[in-house]
Amino acid sequence: MRVSLPGVRWAPSESGLNRVIDDAVSRLLRWFMPSSSSRRSPEQVATTLAEAHRRHPTRTQLQTLGQTHEGRPIVALLIGDALQQPDPRPVVLLDGAHHGGELLSVDIVLDAIAVLLENHTPELAPRVERFRRELVFLCVPEVNPDGVHAVLTDSARSDRKNARDNNENGRVDAADGVDLNRNYPYRWGSLGEKGSSSDPKNVYYRGPAAASEPETQAMMAAALEHHPVASISFHTGTVALLAPYTIAGAQNPEPNEAWIVAEELARQLPRHPQDRDFVLKKNLYPVDGTDQDWLRHELGTLALIVESARSSPKTAEERVAIIDVVRHSWMLLCDRFLDGPSVSGQVKNAAGEPVVATVRIAEQALQEGEVWTTRMRDGRFDRFLPGPGTYTIVAEVAGQPAVSAQVDGMAGRATVELIIPEAPASP
Ligand SMILES: [Zn+2]
Repeated sequence: MRVSLPGVRWAPSESGLNRVIDDAVSRLLRWFMPSSSSRRSPEQVATTLAEAHRRHPTRTQLQTLGQTHEGRPIVALLIGDALQQPDPRPVVLLDGAHHGGELLSVDIVLDAIAVLLENHTPELAPRVERFRRELVFLCVPEVNPDGVHAVLTDSARSDRKNARDNNENGRVDAADGVDLNRNYPYRWGSLGEKGSSSDPKNVYYRGPAAASEPETQAMMAAALEHHPVASISFHTGTVALLAPYTIAGAQNPEPNEAWIVAEELARQLPRHPQDRDFVLKKNLYPVDGTDQDWLRHELGTLALIVESARSSPKTAEERVAIIDVVRHSWMLLCDRFLDGPSVSGQVKNAAGEPVVATVRIAEQALQEGEVWTTRMRDGRFDRFLPGPGTYTIVAEVAGQPAVSAQVDGMAGRATVELIIPEAPASP
């Protein structure tokens, strides 16, 4: 039996051996993307990632980012050719199921994994090979496995929220849980009851404190480690693309390359199978404490949300058609970074060691006190540029004179190395 996945086709087998290989690949794809069901349990997702790692040991690394209230691991797969530990390339974060009930978002991240690792179509191969060569993908299919478990077991509790025992009665019941996408620390709860809820029973409950939840902490730790240049968090509920800042009142960087790039994506995305175009929005309704705004403010990540469907697909065909369209979002975003205008670089000290430095683009005004630094492990930074032009990249370490370099944003993806003249004094 042949699995039909849009964009994934197999050359006809000529020999028995090819048929055996094809069958094996076919089985694997069925495992990744069963055509009849999108209800992947946390255990199945963990097994799928482990299987992907077993098949691609040099291209993947399995990680457990954290553990939920109910003890489930938050599993992730890093993908890139000849993956190093740690890896020097820019990282793109793809995640699903911040809200456990949004099961299609899990499939979308699993599809990205399948495309990156298993896809052999002539049309997609050059792009996928370039992505694997030049980028590392951090794929987290289920940020909220407890919520996924709740929906799959028809639990009475909220499948949107995690499994925090809010009232501490020793069990997770209908009113428990935290909305993880209201729990991130940037402007947590700052809109009062308009952007999230202080009521533990509410489905938008923001949690007892900023970043109180193990899932939030796990995602933040991974982001701080990898400094993703871009991220997409997949959700469902409508068809839209959301670009930061999503919270009302925050002043965007000027120019706001996140919005500009998202506009480019929205224009290029095919029409959604549920009969509408992807519309770019700041938000769907007032929100605070989102992962998107935290990533943007903390790291400068071009952090998008893709609202992937108005409603759950009713048939396997509809589900596959939606995934086929949504796949364009992360692929186009990666194309845009690699094609430019964008800039990548490293900051080092006089001794040639990587340095944690603030890096800003002189032509971009940051208005919310953002301090976007290089990545701790290798002094690396990566930024999308808003458009063609000449940009001044400025690197600063406290107590040292700033250094700068000009890059030509016409030239696609510019690279620059900045040397801080004096080695920082030893402690
Ligand atoms: Zn959602």
